[in-house]
Amino acid sequence: MENIGLTESEIIYWDKVSRSEFIEEPGCYKKCASFCCRWDTPEMPFRIIPKGGTLFYLPKEYAYLKAYGKVADAAPYSMEARFGADKPPVRVYYRHCADDSGCNRDFSRSLFCKLYPFLPVFDMDGELTDVKYISVYDVTAEFAGFETPCFVKSMKDKYKALWREGGGGAALLREPYVLFHLMAAALLHDNYTQNLKSGSSLASLKGPEFWKRWEKEYLSGSLIDKGAFSEALSALYGKFTEKYKISL
Ligand code: SF4
Ligand code: SF4
Repeated sequence: MENIGLTESEIIYWDKVSRSEFIEEPGCYKKCASFCCRWDTPEMPFRIIPKGGTLFYLPKEYAYLKAYGKVADAAPYSMEARFGADKPPVRVYYRHCADDSGCNRDFSRSLFCKLYPFLPVFDMDGELTDVKYISVYDVTAEFAGFETPCFVKSMKDKYKALWREGGGGAALLREPYVLFHLMAAALLHDNYTQNLKSGSSLASLKGPEFWKRWEKEYLSGSLIDKGAFSEALSALYGKFTEKYKISL
């Protein structure tokens, strides 16, 4: 795990994020038994992927929470996307999480958890262009025609309007380091969605059979076109660093 030092302004920024909410549906978990943190349904008979959610952290966010917030004792895993020898990799930390009873008491929720179920998509100028689903399960469920008990997912238009008008913590989401990662996540979303629709043999399957096959394809990495993602990331990084100063 990298040793990341934060500047004073980064500490102030992540402190604001840690005290903010981005989706304002208090108590929504009472209506679905925290479905998004459990994904516990016979529809999804995974063999390898454990039941539960994934807690993602951006590296600077994790550095902040480790120093000033709460994180689990075990260090998270790190995954990275490389897109050129002369450019820094984009890294995301993650760990399996199915413990909504410990959430915010034993460990802090991350920005990505606070955005669930939405991924706000901004352009380079910080204008909101779209709202997509942030979880690969939800993106896949929509493709498979599987309805989850999350009623917040039907509120895309509400959050589109809110973030466009600058509410819902929009200013925090436009901070360049986070903006870059949200734009990178949108590229990954689109790459995945395209492969899911065009390249896989999943379309003919339904219900548990679908999810069983999906698990295999997903874990094999065949649902991401890594070359195309790396190119798109490289183009984004090039344009982004012309406009903003960021250190990944
Ligand atoms: S965001 Fe949706 S799935 Fe998650 S707790 Fe709220 S209603 Fe349930
Ligand atoms: S940190 Fe909380 S909100 Fe995030 S996945 Fe874990 S239990 Fe769910």
